[in-house]
Amino acid sequence: MLNVLKRYFGYDSFRPYQREIIETVMHGRSALVLMPTGGGKSLCYQLPALMMEGTAIVISPLISLMHDQVSQLRSNGIQAVALNSSEGEQDMLTLQRECQDGHVKLLFLSPERLMLELPRLLRSIRISLIAVDEAHCISQWGHDFRPEYNELGILRQTFPQVPIIALTATADKVTRFDILNQLNIPDAQVFIGSFDRPNLSLDVRHGLDSYEKRMAILHFLESHRNESGIIYCLSKKNTESVAAFLRAHHIEAAVYHAGLSLLDRNRAQEDFLNDRVQVVCATIAFGMGINKGNVRFVIHYNLPKSIENYYQEIGRAGRDGAPADTLLFYNVQDIIQLTRFARSSGQQDINMERLSRMREYAEASVCRRRILLNYFGQETATDCHNCDICQHPPQLFDGTQYVQMALSAIMRANQMISMHTCIDILCGILSDEVNHNRYHGLKTFGVGRAVPVRDWKDYMLQMLQMGFVEVMYDQHNHLRITELGKQVLYGKRQAMLVVIRREVQPPKGKKRQPRQKELLPGLWNFMMNGPEEDKELFEALRLVRLRLAQQKGEPPFVIMSDKVLHQLATYKPTTLQAFGNINGIGEYKCATYGPVFLPVIIQYTSGSDS
Ligand code: ADP
Ligand code: ZN
Repeated sequence: MLNVLKRYFGYDSFRPYQREIIETVMHGRSALVLMPTGGGKSLCYQLPALMMEGTAIVISPLISLMHDQVSQLRSNGIQAVALNSSEGEQDMLTLQRECQDGHVKLLFLSPERLMLELPRLLRSIRISLIAVDEAHCISQWGHDFRPEYNELGILRQTFPQVPIIALTATADKVTRFDILNQLNIPDAQVFIGSFDRPNLSLDVRHGLDSYEKRMAILHFLESHRNESGIIYCLSKKNTESVAAFLRAHHIEAAVYHAGLSLLDRNRAQEDFLNDRVQVVCATIAFGMGINKGNVRFVIHYNLPKSIENYYQEIGRAGRDGAPADTLLFYNVQDIIQLTRFARSSGQQDINMERLSRMREYAEASVCRRRILLNYFGQETATDCHNCDICQHPPQLFDGTQYVQMALSAIMRANQMISMHTCIDILCGILSDEVNHNRYHGLKTFGVGRAVPVRDWKDYMLQMLQMGFVEVMYDQHNHLRITELGKQVLYGKRQAMLVVIRREVQPPKGKKRQPRQKELLPGLWNFMMNGPEEDKELFEALRLVRLRLAQQKGEPPFVIMSDKVLHQLATYKPTTLQAFGNINGIGEYKCATYGPVFLPVIIQYTSGSDS
C-alpha cells in the first residue's frame, strides 16, 4: 500500500484513518467516511481502486467536480474517466473495452447517469468498489439534498458483493444514520476522521463597519499577493460591491452568486480555478464544485449561519496542506439579519440554535479551534497557537462606566431605541431619529463623546454578548435592558470589557507552527530547522507551472500543488531523483514535469551561487 501511495501520489505516509479505511474496502466491506473538507477522503477510494481488480465506480453530484478529479488523477498517471452526456455509441464501446481490459481504474458518474448505465455498461464490466462522494446529498436533513441521490439504495441489491464507500464532510448524527439507511449498508464500518485542520489559521474581527472591513481586507491581501482566495458575503449586492472595490485597487476579483447566469457563474469559477482572477466574492452558492487545492485564504465578510457552514467554507482553504489564513468579520447587523432569516425559516428552533452556536464561536475568549473541534465531538486538551485568541489573548478593562452610560441612555429613552440611535445619543449626534424624538433633551445626550462611534459599536456588541441588553427583533430591533444589565446600571455589578484590537495582520511570512507536525512532515521540517525557502525561485516556479497549465489546458494546482512548489523552492533539487523524492511528486509527475522544472532550479542555483 505504501508503495502505491508513493508511486502514484508521491506521499510517504497515510493520514489518520486512511490506512484502516483502505483496508476495510479492500476486504470487501462497506464503509462510511466522515472527514472535513481537505481531510484526504478521495485517497480512501482512489488507492483501493488502483490495487483492486476491475473498475471503481465513483458517484459525484457535480460534473465540474468530476472533471477536476479526473484531471488530478490523470496528472498522476492514473487512468480515470468521467461520463458526461455527449458520448456516442462508439465511445461507449471503447470505454467498455478499456474497463474490461483493466485500463480504466476509476469511472466517475452522476447519479442520473448511473441509473441509465446500470442495465448497460455496468452489467458488462467488473466493478471493484462503489464510492458515493458527497454522500450527505442523500439526506433530506443535509443542506445539499438532491432527489437523484434517493435512487442509490438500489446499488446494494444490484451489486451485493461490491463494497460501497460513502464519503462526506457533514458529521451530524441524523445525516449519518440516514446515509447508512438509504444506501442499505447498515453494517458499514463508520470512520470519523479528525476534524482538525491545523494548517488553517483562525481570526475573528468584531464590530467593523463596511468601510473598515474593506480597508482591513486590503491590508490582509498585502500579505497574500498573487495568492488565491474567496470572500464570502451574505448578500449578492455585497459580493458585487466588494469585488468592485477590489478591482478599483487593482486586485483581479470575480463575482459569483445565484442571481448570475449559468454562463457567468461558470466563467467566474473557471477563471478562479485557472488563477486568472485572484479573488472570488461569492455567496454560499459558491463552493461544492471547488476542488482547488491552492486557495490560500477564505474571508467571511459576514457571519455564517451555522458552524457547519463556516467550517465547510473555511475548509476550502489550504486543501493542499500548506498554511492558509481565514478571517471572519462579525457585527450587530449580521446578528439582526441572520436572526430574521432564522425566524422566518421553516425550522425556526433548529436554525436559531445553530446561529447561537455560531455566535458563541465568534464571541469566544478561549482558543477558537478547541471550540470548533468540540462542536464536532472531538475534544482536545491543548490550545492551537494558530488562532487570534491564542496569539493575542483578549485584554480586559473595567468598562462599568461605559456600560452605565449606554444603559442609562436606553432607560431614559424608555427602551424604545435601536443600537444605532443609542450611539447617536451617546455621541451627541443630531440624527433625524434623535431630532424627531427630542432625544437631545436627554441628560445622557453626548456623555459618551470622548469615545469614537466605532468603538461604541464594539462596546455595544460586547454588552449584547454579555447579556446586559437584548435586541427585541420583533419590535423594530429596540434595545431592552436585562436583569443583569440593571445590576450594572445601579452599581451592583462591575462590567469588564475587552480592549478593542482593529489591525488585521495574518501571521505573515514568519514561521508558523502547525500543532500536529506529523500531518505536515516535509513542511514542518523545513519550517522548523530546514533551509529557508527562496521566494524568488518560488515565483519563477509558479510561472513555469502557469505556462505548463496553459499548454495543457488544466488549472495550475492540478499540475503541482503550492505545497510542492514551496518544497521545490526550499530544497532546490537538481537531479531527477531528488526531484522525485519531494513529498507529493509521484513517478508520473517526476517523469513528466521533472525535465521542465529542473533546468529552472539548476539555472537558478548556479546563478545565485556565482
Ligand atoms: P477531501 O476530499 O477530503 O476534501 P482531498 O481528498 O481532496 O480531500 O485531499 C486533500 C489534499 O490532501 C489533496 O491535495 C491530497 O492529495 C492530500 N492528501 C491526501 N492524502 C494524503 C497523505 N496521506 N499525505 C499527504 N497528502 C495527502
Ligand atoms: Zn487557538
